[in-house]
Amino acid sequence: MIIGLTGGIGSGKSTVSRQLSARGALVLDADAVAHELMVRGQPVWRDVWEAFGWPVLDAAGHLNRVRLGRLVFHSVSAREALNRLVHPAVRDALRCRTRTAAGAPWIVWDVPLLIEGGLFREVDQVWVVYATRAQQIERIAERSQCTREEAEARVKAQWPLEQKLAYADRVLDNTGTLEGLAQQIQAATAGWATS
Ligand code: ATP
Repeated sequence: MIIGLTGGIGSGKSTVSRQLSARGALVLDADAVAHELMVRGQPVWRDVWEAFGWPVLDAAGHLNRVRLGRLVFHSVSAREALNRLVHPAVRDALRCRTRTAAGAPWIVWDVPLLIEGGLFREVDQVWVVYATRAQQIERIAERSQCTREEAEARVKAQWPLEQKLAYADRVLDNTGTLEGLAQQIQAATAGWATS
């Protein structure tokens, strides 16, 4: 079974995926896959460099993520261009790793843009981790040590989480404590140990 795990920035996806991994799931993290594919010398690294030029590389030839992030945050066309290079490669890698993961009964695709990018159509169940917008902002600001304004801008650049709930087969309500979230995960995976 493939579970598509999604939510918004700072809503708690990584917290959930860590616990699902501890429960025996194979977690494929789209952000981590994207990182791997953009390592110097990899095809996506080459594509990004060709598209954006020298300014996005550091002196050693690695992609400078801070500069790239800034570039795409301020330009819709640059963001779209980057997404066109990275997203199809990440999707292919997720599919390929799933095909070769014979024997893993539960596979979790942890994909921030699962719904926006259409990948939700390829999973058996969509799980959405929900927190209020104010909580997302507060948790990001605390974790990333960015200002509230920066955190707010990042949350506002995404779909409102309420919009994603319409696609959910299961909602993990992370508006409460971490303990409360863990209990929901226990309940959601109660059958796993015996399956
Ligand atoms: P991103 O999309 O930015 O990777 P995420 O959805 O994976 O974020 P997490 O990294 O799991 O979110 O959580 C964001 C921050 O909020 C973390 O520091 C985490 O420890 C904290 N957090 C998550 N859930 C709760 C909660 N219920 N109460 C308090 N803090 C929480």
